[in-house]
Amino acid sequence: MYNKGRLNTIIQVAHTMQTHTIHPAASSDGHRHYHGKGIVHSIESCGTVDGPGLRFVLFMQGCLMRCLYCHNRDTWDMRTDKAQELSVDEVMKQVISYRHYLRATGGGVTATGGEPLLQYEFIRDWFVACKANDIHTCLDTNGYALHYDHILDDLLDHTDLVMLDLKQVDPEIHKALVGIPNTKTLKFARYLAERNQAARVRYVIVPGYTDDDRSAHLLGEFIGDMENIDTVELLPYHELGAHKWELCGDAYKLTGVRPPPKETVLHIKEILEGYGKNIIY
Ligand code: SF4
Repeated sequence: MYNKGRLNTIIQVAHTMQTHTIHPAASSDGHRHYHGKGIVHSIESCGTVDGPGLRFVLFMQGCLMRCLYCHNRDTWDMRTDKAQELSVDEVMKQVISYRHYLRATGGGVTATGGEPLLQYEFIRDWFVACKANDIHTCLDTNGYALHYDHILDDLLDHTDLVMLDLKQVDPEIHKALVGIPNTKTLKFARYLAERNQAARVRYVIVPGYTDDDRSAHLLGEFIGDMENIDTVELLPYHELGAHKWELCGDAYKLTGVRPPPKETVLHIKEILEGYGKNIIY
Protein backbone atom coordinates (compact mmCIF):
# COMPACT_ATOMS: atom_id res chain seq x y z
CA MET A 1 0.00 0.00 0.00
CA TYR A 2 0.95 3.65 0.04
CA ASN A 3 1.76 5.94 2.90
CA LYS A 4 3.29 9.32 3.58
CA GLY A 5 6.58 8.04 4.83
CA ARG A 6 6.90 5.31 7.29
CA LEU A 7 7.85 6.39 10.79
CA ASN A 8 8.77 3.19 12.49
CA THR A 9 8.28 4.18 16.08
CA ILE A 10 9.60 1.12 17.76
CA ILE A 11 8.92 1.19 21.45
CA GLN A 12 11.95 -0.28 23.09
CA VAL A 13 10.31 -2.47 25.65
CA ALA A 14 11.17 -5.90 26.79
CA HIS A 15 7.83 -7.08 25.48
CA THR A 16 8.90 -10.66 25.21
CA MET A 17 9.21 -10.79 28.97
CA GLN A 18 5.53 -10.12 29.43
CA THR A 19 3.12 -12.99 29.72
CA HIS A 20 -0.40 -12.83 28.35
CA THR A 21 -3.14 -15.22 27.56
CA ILE A 22 -4.17 -15.46 23.91
CA HIS A 23 -7.85 -16.22 23.69
CA PRO A 24 -8.64 -18.86 21.09
CA ALA A 25 -10.04 -17.62 17.81
CA ALA A 26 -13.58 -18.69 17.00
CA SER A 27 -15.16 -17.45 13.79
CA SER A 28 -18.81 -17.59 12.91
CA ASP A 29 -18.35 -20.48 10.47
CA GLY A 30 -16.73 -22.66 13.08
CA HIS A 31 -13.03 -22.21 12.20
CA ARG A 32 -11.24 -22.70 15.51
CA HIS A 33 -7.70 -23.14 14.28
CA TYR A 34 -5.95 -21.89 11.23
CA HIS A 35 -4.65 -24.77 9.15
CA GLY A 36 -2.55 -22.73 6.73
CA LYS A 37 -0.12 -19.90 6.96
CA GLY A 38 -0.01 -16.37 5.69
CA ILE A 39 2.74 -15.31 3.32
CA VAL A 40 4.10 -12.19 4.95
CA HIS A 41 6.46 -9.68 3.40
CA SER A 42 7.30 -7.89 6.65
CA ILE A 43 6.03 -6.75 10.02
CA GLU A 44 6.07 -3.29 11.54
CA SER A 45 5.48 -3.54 15.25
CA CYS A 46 4.46 0.05 15.97
CA GLY A 47 3.45 1.80 12.76
CA THR A 48 1.99 5.28 12.85
CA VAL A 49 0.53 5.82 9.38
CA ASP A 50 -1.69 2.83 8.67
CA GLY A 51 -4.76 3.62 10.74
CA PRO A 52 -5.58 5.23 14.09
CA GLY A 53 -3.03 5.21 16.91
CA LEU A 54 -0.03 2.91 17.05
CA ARG A 55 -0.50 -0.14 14.88
CA PHE A 56 0.98 -3.58 14.52
CA VAL A 57 1.17 -3.80 10.73
CA LEU A 58 1.39 -6.94 8.67
CA PHE A 59 2.52 -6.42 5.09
CA MET A 60 1.18 -9.32 3.08
CA GLN A 61 2.86 -10.65 -0.01
CA GLY A 62 1.06 -10.50 -3.37
CA CYS A 63 -0.71 -7.83 -5.41
CA LEU A 64 -2.39 -7.94 -8.81
CA MET A 65 -2.36 -4.21 -9.37
CA ARG A 66 0.61 -2.46 -10.92
CA CYS A 67 0.42 1.10 -9.69
CA LEU A 68 3.04 3.26 -11.39
CA TYR A 69 3.88 4.86 -8.05
CA CYS A 70 3.95 1.67 -5.98
CA HIS A 71 6.45 2.00 -3.18
CA ASN A 72 6.11 -1.63 -2.19
CA ARG A 73 7.13 -3.09 -5.53
CA ASP A 74 8.76 -6.00 -3.73
CA THR A 75 5.37 -7.24 -2.47
CA TRP A 76 3.86 -7.99 -5.88
CA ASP A 77 4.89 -11.63 -6.21
CA MET A 78 3.17 -14.04 -3.87
CA ARG A 79 6.34 -15.95 -3.23
CA THR A 80 9.81 -14.54 -2.89
CA ASP A 81 12.96 -15.64 -1.11
CA LYS A 82 12.46 -13.07 1.62
CA ALA A 83 8.79 -13.78 2.42
CA GLN A 84 7.98 -15.54 5.68
CA GLU A 85 5.18 -18.02 6.20
CA LEU A 86 3.54 -17.40 9.55
CA SER A 87 0.59 -18.92 11.35
CA VAL A 88 -2.03 -16.83 13.13
CA ASP A 89 -0.72 -18.12 16.45
CA GLU A 90 2.80 -16.99 15.59
CA VAL A 91 1.57 -13.53 14.62
CA MET A 92 -0.70 -13.27 17.67
CA LYS A 93 2.16 -13.98 20.05
CA GLN A 94 3.79 -10.81 18.76
CA VAL A 95 0.56 -8.80 18.72
CA ILE A 96 -0.28 -9.71 22.29
CA SER A 97 3.12 -8.54 23.48
CA TYR A 98 2.33 -5.07 22.11
CA ARG A 99 -1.34 -5.08 23.04
CA HIS A 100 -1.16 -2.54 25.87
CA TYR A 101 0.81 -0.03 23.80
CA LEU A 102 -1.56 -0.38 20.89
CA ARG A 103 -4.61 0.07 23.10
CA ALA A 104 -3.17 3.01 25.03
CA THR A 105 -2.96 5.01 21.79
CA GLY A 106 -6.31 3.96 20.38
CA GLY A 107 -4.47 1.74 17.91
CA GLY A 108 -4.58 -1.90 16.94
CA VAL A 109 -3.53 -4.06 14.02
CA THR A 110 -3.53 -3.37 10.29
CA ALA A 111 -3.37 -5.81 7.40
CA THR A 112 -1.81 -4.25 4.33
CA GLY A 113 0.58 -5.27 1.60
CA GLY A 114 0.67 -5.96 -1.19
CA GLU A 115 -3.00 -6.75 -1.19
CA PRO A 116 -4.25 -8.54 1.93
CA LEU A 117 -7.51 -9.65 0.32
CA LEU A 118 -5.51 -12.09 -1.83
CA GLN A 119 -4.96 -14.01 1.41
CA TYR A 120 -8.35 -13.30 2.88
CA GLU A 121 -8.69 -16.58 4.77
CA PHE A 122 -5.56 -15.87 6.73
CA ILE A 123 -6.57 -12.27 7.39
CA ARG A 124 -10.03 -13.41 8.42
CA ASP A 125 -8.57 -15.82 10.94
CA TRP A 126 -6.06 -13.28 12.18
CA PHE A 127 -8.77 -10.66 12.69
CA VAL A 128 -11.03 -13.18 14.43
CA ALA A 129 -8.16 -13.84 16.84
CA CYS A 130 -7.61 -10.11 17.33
CA LYS A 131 -11.26 -9.44 18.09
CA ALA A 132 -11.28 -12.36 20.54
CA ASN A 133 -8.59 -10.37 22.33
CA ASP A 134 -10.42 -7.05 21.99
CA ILE A 135 -7.88 -5.58 19.57
CA HIS A 136 -8.92 -3.02 16.95
CA THR A 137 -8.58 -4.29 13.36
CA CYS A 138 -7.98 -2.33 10.20
CA LEU A 139 -7.92 -3.64 6.62
CA ASP A 140 -5.88 -1.53 4.21
CA THR A 141 -6.96 -2.74 0.78
CA ASN A 142 -7.18 -1.82 -2.88
CA GLY A 143 -10.56 -3.56 -2.97
CA TYR A 144 -9.45 -6.37 -5.25
CA ALA A 145 -11.77 -8.98 -3.77
CA LEU A 146 -11.79 -12.17 -5.80
CA HIS A 147 -14.64 -13.87 -3.95
CA TYR A 148 -17.80 -12.58 -2.33
CA ASP A 149 -18.52 -15.39 0.05
CA HIS A 150 -18.90 -16.21 3.73
CA ILE A 151 -15.15 -15.86 4.27
CA LEU A 152 -15.15 -12.28 3.04
CA ASP A 153 -18.22 -11.51 5.12
CA ASP A 154 -16.65 -13.09 8.16
CA LEU A 155 -13.48 -11.06 7.60
CA LEU A 156 -15.49 -7.84 7.28
CA ASP A 157 -17.55 -8.75 10.36
CA HIS A 158 -14.28 -8.75 12.29
CA THR A 159 -12.92 -5.56 10.71
CA ASP A 160 -13.34 -2.31 12.63
CA LEU A 161 -12.13 -0.04 9.85
CA VAL A 162 -11.54 -0.56 6.14
CA MET A 163 -9.06 1.80 4.53
CA LEU A 164 -9.95 1.58 0.86
CA ASP A 165 -7.52 2.80 -1.77
CA LEU A 166 -9.65 4.40 -4.47
CA LYS A 167 -7.00 5.27 -6.97
CA GLN A 168 -9.07 6.75 -9.77
CA VAL A 169 -12.78 6.53 -10.60
CA ASP A 170 -12.26 7.21 -14.33
CA PRO A 171 -11.75 3.73 -15.84
CA GLU A 172 -9.29 4.74 -18.55
CA ILE A 173 -7.03 6.79 -16.32
CA HIS A 174 -7.22 4.05 -13.70
CA LYS A 175 -5.99 1.55 -16.25
CA ALA A 176 -3.13 3.82 -17.26
CA LEU A 177 -2.14 4.39 -13.62
CA VAL A 178 -2.78 0.95 -12.14
CA GLY A 179 -2.52 -1.38 -15.13
CA ILE A 180 -5.95 -2.95 -14.70
CA PRO A 181 -9.58 -1.74 -14.67
CA ASN A 182 -11.14 -0.37 -11.50
CA THR A 183 -14.24 -2.58 -11.77
CA LYS A 184 -13.37 -4.78 -8.79
CA THR A 185 -12.47 -1.86 -6.55
CA LEU A 186 -15.68 0.03 -7.31
CA LYS A 187 -17.72 -3.12 -6.73
CA PHE A 188 -16.01 -3.61 -3.37
CA ALA A 189 -16.68 0.00 -2.40
CA ARG A 190 -20.38 -0.46 -3.18
CA TYR A 191 -20.40 -3.69 -1.21
CA LEU A 192 -18.96 -1.91 1.83
CA ALA A 193 -21.64 0.75 1.49
CA GLU A 194 -24.38 -1.90 1.34
CA ARG A 195 -23.00 -3.42 4.52
CA ASN A 196 -22.65 0.02 6.11
CA GLN A 197 -19.08 -0.99 6.87
CA ALA A 198 -17.00 1.74 8.52
CA ALA A 199 -14.51 2.82 5.88
CA ARG A 200 -12.04 5.52 5.04
CA VAL A 201 -10.92 6.26 1.50
CA ARG A 202 -7.28 6.78 0.66
CA TYR A 203 -6.60 8.85 -2.44
CA VAL A 204 -3.09 9.29 -3.80
CA ILE A 205 -2.62 12.59 -5.61
CA VAL A 206 -0.40 11.78 -8.57
CA PRO A 207 0.46 14.67 -10.90
CA GLY A 208 -0.90 13.99 -14.37
CA TYR A 209 -3.17 11.16 -13.21
CA THR A 210 -5.30 12.15 -10.22
CA ASP A 211 -4.53 15.79 -9.43
CA ASP A 212 -7.17 17.39 -11.64
CA ASP A 213 -10.58 18.77 -10.70
CA ARG A 214 -12.50 16.23 -12.77
CA SER A 215 -10.87 13.27 -11.02
CA ALA A 216 -11.61 14.77 -7.61
CA HIS A 217 -15.23 15.41 -8.55
CA LEU A 218 -15.61 11.87 -9.90
CA LEU A 219 -14.38 10.55 -6.57
CA GLY A 220 -16.65 12.90 -4.65
CA GLU A 221 -19.68 11.90 -6.72
CA PHE A 222 -18.89 8.21 -6.30
CA ILE A 223 -18.57 8.27 -2.51
CA GLY A 224 -20.75 11.27 -1.73
CA ASP A 225 -23.82 9.23 -0.77
CA MET A 226 -21.88 6.45 0.92
CA GLU A 227 -22.65 7.10 4.56
CA ASN A 228 -20.21 4.44 5.71
CA ILE A 229 -17.34 6.62 4.45
CA ASP A 230 -16.83 9.70 6.57
CA THR A 231 -13.19 10.45 5.84
CA VAL A 232 -10.91 10.75 2.83
CA GLU A 233 -7.18 10.64 3.42
CA LEU A 234 -5.20 12.53 0.81
CA LEU A 235 -1.76 11.16 0.11
CA PRO A 236 0.46 13.37 -2.02
CA TYR A 237 2.57 11.32 -4.43
CA HIS A 238 6.20 10.77 -3.56
CA GLU A 239 8.89 8.62 -5.13
CA LEU A 240 10.38 7.10 -1.99
CA GLY A 241 9.79 3.57 -3.27
CA ALA A 242 11.49 4.08 -6.65
CA HIS A 243 14.66 2.27 -5.59
CA LYS A 244 12.67 -0.92 -4.97
CA TRP A 245 11.71 -1.01 -8.63
CA GLU A 246 15.36 -0.97 -9.57
CA LEU A 247 16.12 -3.71 -7.05
CA CYS A 248 13.38 -5.78 -8.71
CA GLY A 249 14.91 -5.15 -12.12
CA ASP A 250 12.14 -2.80 -13.34
CA ALA A 251 12.27 0.73 -14.69
CA TYR A 252 10.41 3.26 -12.52
CA LYS A 253 8.15 5.04 -14.97
CA LEU A 254 7.38 8.15 -12.91
CA THR A 255 10.96 9.33 -12.63
CA GLY A 256 10.97 13.11 -12.69
CA VAL A 257 7.37 13.46 -11.48
CA ARG A 258 7.44 15.79 -8.51
CA PRO A 259 5.11 15.68 -5.50
CA PRO A 260 2.03 17.88 -6.02
CA PRO A 261 2.26 21.41 -4.61
CA LYS A 262 0.42 22.12 -1.38
CA GLU A 263 -2.05 24.35 -3.25
CA THR A 264 -3.14 21.36 -5.34
CA VAL A 265 -3.69 19.22 -2.27
CA LEU A 266 -5.69 22.00 -0.59
CA HIS A 267 -7.75 22.48 -3.74
CA ILE A 268 -8.64 18.78 -3.90
CA LYS A 269 -9.41 18.88 -0.20
CA GLU A 270 -11.85 21.71 -0.82
CA ILE A 271 -13.54 19.83 -3.68
CA LEU A 272 -14.02 16.68 -1.60
CA GLU A 273 -15.23 18.62 1.42
CA GLY A 274 -17.99 19.81 -0.89
CA TYR A 275 -19.22 16.20 -0.94
CA GLY A 276 -19.58 16.16 2.84
CA LYS A 277 -16.44 14.21 3.73
CA ASN A 278 -13.83 14.92 6.37
CA ILE A 279 -10.44 15.27 4.76
CA ILE A 280 -7.13 14.43 6.36
CA TYR A 281 -3.67 14.64 4.85
S1 SF4 B 1 -2.21 -1.69 -4.84
FE1 SF4 B 1 -0.73 -0.53 -6.00
S2 SF4 B 1 0.43 0.59 -4.44
FE2 SF4 B 1 -0.62 -1.08 -3.39
S3 SF4 B 1 0.88 -2.77 -3.39
FE3 SF4 B 1 -0.45 -3.04 -5.18
S4 SF4 B 1 0.68 -2.05 -6.85
FE4 SF4 B 1 1.55 -1.31 -4.91
